[in-house]
Amino acid sequence: MRKLATIRQILDLRPIPGADQIELAVVDGWTVVVRVGEFKRGDPCVYFEIDSFLPLRPEFEHIRARCFKRMGEQEGLRIKTIRLRGQLSQGMALPLTSFPEIITEWDRLCNEGLKAANTTIHDVDFSELLGVQKYEPPVPTQLAGNVSGNFPGFIPKTDQERCQNYGREIFVDNEGARYEITVKLDGTSFTGYRKDEEDGVCGRNWKLKVDDDNATNSLVRMYVDSGLQAALAKLGMNYAVQGELMGPGIQKNREGFKITKLFVFDIYDIDNGCYLAPHARHEVLYQLWDLGLDRDMVDHVPVIAMEMPLEELGIESVDQLLAYAEGPSIAHAIREGLVFKRVDGGFSFKAISNKFLLKEED
Ligand code: AMP
Ligand code: MN
Repeated sequence: MRKLATIRQILDLRPIPGADQIELAVVDGWTVVVRVGEFKRGDPCVYFEIDSFLPLRPEFEHIRARCFKRMGEQEGLRIKTIRLRGQLSQGMALPLTSFPEIITEWDRLCNEGLKAANTTIHDVDFSELLGVQKYEPPVPTQLAGNVSGNFPGFIPKTDQERCQNYGREIFVDNEGARYEITVKLDGTSFTGYRKDEEDGVCGRNWKLKVDDDNATNSLVRMYVDSGLQAALAKLGMNYAVQGELMGPGIQKNREGFKITKLFVFDIYDIDNGCYLAPHARHEVLYQLWDLGLDRDMVDHVPVIAMEMPLEELGIESVDQLLAYAEGPSIAHAIREGLVFKRVDGGFSFKAISNKFLLKEED
């Protein structure tokens, strides 16, 4: 789960040329515009990450004009990437003192023994306490479908953490690690699996019925029409194939595809509880094609590198990672970004193109 509202430290403050009311704060791998004088270096702040959907409350009134948004029936404020006076600003940082309930809640967690040992206030997600949700654009009808239940517990969801939140994990804990680097495509998450006699199709957070009710659902149609269902059954392995579904009506279809396509980025071995390593994944995809999976409908996501240490790319900081993430996708000059997966599948993150984020509309 992404932690959208957390307590973090202001690591640095930098003046913005020509501006006397605002300055740039550094919070982990993010830069965010704040009011001059609001923080000193080292101060704690409440940091709301991009994609937060905030409730309307007095503390947020100053961004109402710019950020007001509806999500379904609810009214709130959507935090997204912006450029202010030429500076990239991502998220929102406000003084901890504006939210006394956070300290009350932290005291309660401590006093009632509700926090795990060695948890610090920085590890806690205060989204629920503050009424912060993740902004989700409306699901187009052809994807919504007839839901049969939650995402199955025996398969990991396809979420990826942003590199800005992983400075230490990437550059200290995983020094020298080798990564598969793939292009991040901007469609919708697809999981198609077979487990013994059970098979299923899932979107990002839910499972769909594979029956006539969903005959027109794009995710279910991909599973059946591409031959993935049949090929998985012939293969006889308990695998989940995960990929990005792309095509007309899905997100903005920035690649301009004429037909719906699936780009595989992972295969999960359900029996062994692990992801296949990149080479094994490619091997299985070849087997599935041999077993009748349609190559025009199902391909692999574009691969930039198979086993690449960041050191070899000269990447030593989050900023350098973000610069490296810029570039074209399949048919668009500005890709969404890159996904980095350690070759053993045990660690991964995404680097989203700031050019892409600045162009994003809703
Ligand atoms: P986000 O779309 O920002 O929520 O980032 C995570 C999602 O990226 C995953 O749920 C996938 O659906 C999607 N994705 C697109 N391309 C890739 C890729 N090459 N590797 C992994 N995930 C990807
Ligand atoms: Mn996405």
